[in-house]
Amino acid sequence: MTLVMYDSIFVANLPAGTTCAAGYVDGSWPTYPAVRARFPQAQVLSIAVFSTSDADCCDSEKGDLTPDQVPAWVKRQMARGAVLPCVYASAANIPAILSALTAAGIRRAQVRCWSAHYGLGPHICGPATCKYPGVPACDGTQFTDLAPGAHGSLIDQSLLLGTFFGGTPMSVNGPEHWDAADFAALDTYLGRLPTRDITWHTGMWWLEHAVTGTTDKTMPATTAAQVTAIHDGLAALASSAVPVVPTAGQVAAAVVAALPPSAAGGLTQADVEAAVQAVFEKAFLAPAG
Ligand SMILES: [Zn+2]
Repeated sequence: MTLVMYDSIFVANLPAGTTCAAGYVDGSWPTYPAVRARFPQAQVLSIAVFSTSDADCCDSEKGDLTPDQVPAWVKRQMARGAVLPCVYASAANIPAILSALTAAGIRRAQVRCWSAHYGLGPHICGPATCKYPGVPACDGTQFTDLAPGAHGSLIDQSLLLGTFFGGTPMSVNGPEHWDAADFAALDTYLGRLPTRDITWHTGMWWLEHAVTGTTDKTMPATTAAQVTAIHDGLAALASSAVPVVPTAGQVAAAVVAALPPSAAGGLTQADVEAAVQAVFEKAFLAPAG
């Protein structure tokens, strides 16, 4: 399973129904807030072009971060709670950036690698696809800047691994929605949970079964039917060209996206429950197929 992501310096050129998009937090076209506002249910990757800006992704190309600036930027994102900071660069520059990261003690698996490689059609760079010299299997590739956008425009299109946004919620929405303080609050909450309060555990049980669609003979028939129905509803939630069942990571990302902004932390149980409910309601309201 893969994802399609669009980006354009003109938000209006992104096609209706966009489910994944990227936008800048700084620079000449700070599109990120407008992209989020236009596609509130989409996965939106925030990009920094200045080394001093925090975001999900940094842009390492001419005029933006140099390869040498990337390691410090990645370390700063990790320090603020981002688990898989993303680096965007042309395929030609990926090897130098990964070398700089390795020299700084950052492993390939600790970052998302988003390459740009035009001319070969939809693909994600790697030894099994384009075999670009020195480029390991990437997490996503911007393969064209001539994709059809809205109003007859031409926009950038990327192919992403299905897991691109699903590492952890922190890597999806950034600190504007979810930060280390939120996780600390959740840990505190779970640690204090009385054994008689099984609301949280029940919710996780349902979430797991709803995502995987697994039923077994130990379940009452009505429970199994509900699991199947919720699973089918979730399948409709995925509005990509080929309807697919979202991964647990995507559902988690959708839940996080539905959480209220909480830059200072301090999410409540009610916040989390409301977000989970919103996602499931959306799953049922989405048109099937
Ligand atoms: Zn490639």
